[in-house]
Amino acid sequence: VGVFYRPLEKIGAVFETYPKGIAGFRRYQALLATEPDIADRPGAIPAPPLKGEIRFENVRFGYSPDRPVLAGVDLTIHVGETVAFVGPSGAGKTTLLSLIPRFYEAEAGRITIDGRDIRDLTLSSLRGQIGIVQQDVFLFAGTIRENIAYGRLGASEAEILDAAARARLDGLVASLPEGLDTVIGERGVKLSGGQKQRLAIARAFLKNPPILILDEATSALDTQTEREIQASLFELAEGRTTLVIAHRLATIRHADRIVVVAESGIAEQGRHDALLAGDGYYRRLHAAQVEEPFSDRPRTAAE
Ligand code: ATP
Repeated sequence: VGVFYRPLEKIGAVFETYPKGIAGFRRYQALLATEPDIADRPGAIPAPPLKGEIRFENVRFGYSPDRPVLAGVDLTIHVGETVAFVGPSGAGKTTLLSLIPRFYEAEAGRITIDGRDIRDLTLSSLRGQIGIVQQDVFLFAGTIRENIAYGRLGASEAEILDAAARARLDGLVASLPEGLDTVIGERGVKLSGGQKQRLAIARAFLKNPPILILDEATSALDTQTEREIQASLFELAEGRTTLVIAHRLATIRHADRIVVVAESGIAEQGRHDALLAGDGYYRRLHAAQVEEPFSDRPRTAAE
């Protein structure tokens, strides 16, 4: 296990690791060893059910004092809004979003959800209301059922089946002789990249959080799989505040708002057409995409 974690990998480790499979347990331990000192404040309260209005107020953050990544970010995300974050590699998109579940602590400024400072909420109640779907899905050695149920321990059979169906994992489950009880991982059935993503989506449906963070995959899937996964993700985003690190033009166009992260903060924001009509980063990014997509995936005809 490497020493350096990218923030969303940490998110994955916290949300998706279950100290059950050996690999997962090692990763969990490694995470604990590298986790900065983030703990519940004295007097922190369990978050009430959140609606999902997220506000950054002059938020500053850097991994080392001499290199600020976010130098005073102000941003309000409305309840139920889908916001696509784009920008050059290394600009700070992942970092920005990893502050919401408090994988890192802002150095200055504050982040509120529904008007409450997130530091006043217990970590478990905060993280319990944030769903994460990321490209490197962490699955533990166990059955498909256990891997989905990790989205919400104690879920009923019907709820697990429903989540699998919404994530379009039901076809796979039906095709396996052991169904949901099929063991996956090194000693079991190996899932394809697309199937792993569907499993992560099923987990998120089961968790049913008001806030969703998506780290869109950059790796190439075939066009059909890609479309289906995107369709599931759009459904998942319905009725939730959704923040997506976007690499696909279709996702970006579908978003209520695009936020361009560059130069230690938010360079510009708006809808696709408005940003294209301007003369800022987005237009340049988009122009560059014509030659080289936001991702390194071959583009689909729809784009
Ligand atoms: P990408 O599109 O490539 O994923 P990004 O916009 O998400 O990039 P971040 O991953 O947030 O960018 O990284 C912002 C900056 O912080 C980069 O310079 C990166 O090298 C640095 N960084 C990210 N994670 C860490 C870490 N755990 N420790 C130290 N520096 C880090």
